[in-house]
Amino acid sequence: MEREALLYQKLPDGRVQCGVCQRRCIVAEGERGWCCTRKNRRGRLVSLTYGEVSSVSVNPIEKKPVFHFHPGSRWLSLGGLGCNFRCPGCQNWDIAHFQGGTSRGTSYLSPEEQVELAKARSCIGLSWTFNEPTLWFEYTLDTARIARKHGLFTNYVTNGYITEEAMDLLAPHLDVYRVDIKGFSPTTYKKVAGGVDVEGIPASDGTRQAGWRPRGGRHQPRPGPQRRRRRVAGAGVLDPRAPGARDPLARDPLPTPPRPRPHPTHAGPDTRDKTPERASTTS
Ligand code: SF4
Repeated sequence: MEREALLYQKLPDGRVQCGVCQRRCIVAEGERGWCCTRKNRRGRLVSLTYGEVSSVSVNPIEKKPVFHFHPGSRWLSLGGLGCNFRCPGCQNWDIAHFQGGTSRGTSYLSPEEQVELAKARSCIGLSWTFNEPTLWFEYTLDTARIARKHGLFTNYVTNGYITEEAMDLLAPHLDVYRVDIKGFSPTTYKKVAGGVDVEGIPASDGTRQAGWRPRGGRHQPRPGPQRRRRRVAGAGVLDPRAPGARDPLARDPLPTPPRPRPHPTHAGPDTRDKTPERASTTS
């Protein structure tokens, strides 16, 4: 289903500039953006994949993978089409590398139907995964608002290449934001993800501790006993340049083992020659 995009700017000559992901495509009339899921229709940017579901299944939260938010819980996992990266090792390439019309079919599921399906399958939340959920921005935002009213949690499994303005709209309605790390250098990102500038993944402002920047003061839990337990999990990105930053993936240095004390009845190391005796060679 088509839906007018929420974040775009009109430019001269009927062109538009998308504001959903950091590619910030400038799209001429009749053309699509880099991800192929957004099109300029007579000077309006539209999402072509609103509600178009390519994959759905029930998974434990650990499969997302998230290990610190309601462990062992069931989540309805859904994917659409397209991605703003082109990782050559993508395990869901048939939906993620969608380029308009060559991928497998989809079924329309309204935000309300998504929520009802999650409840019917005894899931505690909705996880947008399999392909890049940022491209489903309008759809996931609408669904997240409804899901929260029904007491369901929501989760983005993402590459983190969202714009600040999109994140500002989405974050108050999202519970878990889990960023896949594609590499550890700008060169790797450029090579592996399709010319991606890693600086575009929101960087630390340097004021947060330990390099993981929770995106926020704006992510305040809502009042009430149940809401008090809610929090945004992992909503941050690593900036190794932040003051006091440490790589959360690095192992802690092993403690130096204590020097062994000599055994009271043991005289010390046995220094006798234990070289096996060679058999004498007599003829
Ligand atoms: S979502 Fe990203 S890749 Fe797709 S049209 Fe918008 S800026 Fe371009």
